[in-house]
Amino acid sequence: MDAPDQSLATTTCIIGGGPAGIMLGFLLARAGIHVTVLEKYKDFFRDFRGDTIHPSTLEILYELGLLEKFLTLPHSQISELSANVGGEQFRIADFTHLPVHAKFIALMPQWDFLNFLAAEAAHYPNFTLRMGWEATGLLQQNGITTGVEANTPNGPVKIPAHLTIGCDGRHAISRVAAHLPLIDYGVPIDVLWLRLPRHPGDPEYGLGYINYGRLIVLINRNDYYQVGYIVAKGTFPQIQAAGLQAFQQSIERVVPFLARRTAELDSWDKIKLLTVEVNRLKQWSSPGLLCIGDAAHAMSPVGGIGINIALQDAVATANMLTESLLAGAATPHDLARVQHYRERAVHNTQRVQVFAHRVLNKILNNPGPVKPPLLLKILTSIPGFQQLPARFVGLGLQPQHIKTT
Ligand SMILES: Cc1cc2nc3c(=O)[nH]c(=O)nc-3n(C[C@H](O)[C@H](O)[C@H](O)COP(=O)(O)OP(=O)(O)OC[C@H]3O[C@@H](n4cnc5c(N)ncnc54)[C@H](O)[C@@H]3O)c2cc1C
Repeated sequence: MDAPDQSLATTTCIIGGGPAGIMLGFLLARAGIHVTVLEKYKDFFRDFRGDTIHPSTLEILYELGLLEKFLTLPHSQISELSANVGGEQFRIADFTHLPVHAKFIALMPQWDFLNFLAAEAAHYPNFTLRMGWEATGLLQQNGITTGVEANTPNGPVKIPAHLTIGCDGRHAISRVAAHLPLIDYGVPIDVLWLRLPRHPGDPEYGLGYINYGRLIVLINRNDYYQVGYIVAKGTFPQIQAAGLQAFQQSIERVVPFLARRTAELDSWDKIKLLTVEVNRLKQWSSPGLLCIGDAAHAMSPVGGIGINIALQDAVATANMLTESLLAGAATPHDLARVQHYRERAVHNTQRVQVFAHRVLNKILNNPGPVKPPLLLKILTSIPGFQQLPARFVGLGLQPQHIKTT
């Protein structure tokens, strides 16, 4: 494998078939640009990246004429978010007043969402999705990225590209290979990810349960709950050492209606540790390369907004680069404009997440029963208060709209 393989040459090579990569690939292909998306796994069937499709994303699907079709896929709808603090329930966010067509969060396994978008993109002959192709490095000439090196099921290849876009998530090879400097915020929490059965009559809406030094989030996936059990970073070995029974009891103590279902957790293999990171690149681009989504700014699961932000990056990138790419290439100035336009909204969102981590850290360090703070009681009793968090979570700080055709 010496020379780049010209038969693979493309205008835009996107590394990573997550929400940012597939949406961007779809939008660029739809606008008539030749695009190849590389995804290192053979399918989208992975259980760890969040299932939330937010109102602003549903609005993007509406603008693309795809909303109705999308909502025929199995999903559940959340029109409000609540928190159960020390046994008392509080309505935190109400999406029903948002100025969009779908006033709810759609909960759908992410593989269904990605399969849907990829199938829509496949209608365009200039769209190529290479599953099971893993980028291993960047092709570079005189400091300019000129494409991607990848391992494929048939061996290594070199893919020439006018523009490479890193959508390869928190551990992006793109940003490492381009030596883009990273600022790490440091995060005090991790998430244990597990499933528990859901029974008829169980709560339907998104719920976080806070008590006895624990925060447990339940995501309704119809016949089961996807459970996020928040722990202080680095404490999983101690939790394991205390034994499965103690772990089961800690869930039941905080979420009493799950009593007798936790016996399903009969092996630590059923409990995955997901590490949380929040970081951002100082510079999202270098000549021939742009990073977006978690590759440019890894998001925490707090607020379930990372997918939304990654998709908004993708829409903004397509809006801003389509004209240049149709004309042949995007200049370093074009690439820098994407960061300039998006970074304030992204950084402010990360600041909110970092603040939330501090609050969570306090919760995790108080093993006793929690008393709901007075401020929470006052705020949630103000008429219309729920619309503010709904805007932040549901639309984000800088909602995007489709400007390409
Ligand atoms: C525990 C946890 C739970 C979360 N829950 C939520 C949630 O409920 N809602 C929400 O909105 N956000 C959630 N987030 C945040 C969210 O996962 C991310 O912000 C979002 O997935 C970013 O999308 P992305 O497309 O930029 O990157 P990713 O989703 O990380 O996608 C990157 C893709 O690139 C592929 N890839 C990586 N390296 C290569 C390579 N070398 N070659 C080819 N392909 C490659 C990966 O396989 C992956 O498909 C959560 C995060 C964590 C850690």
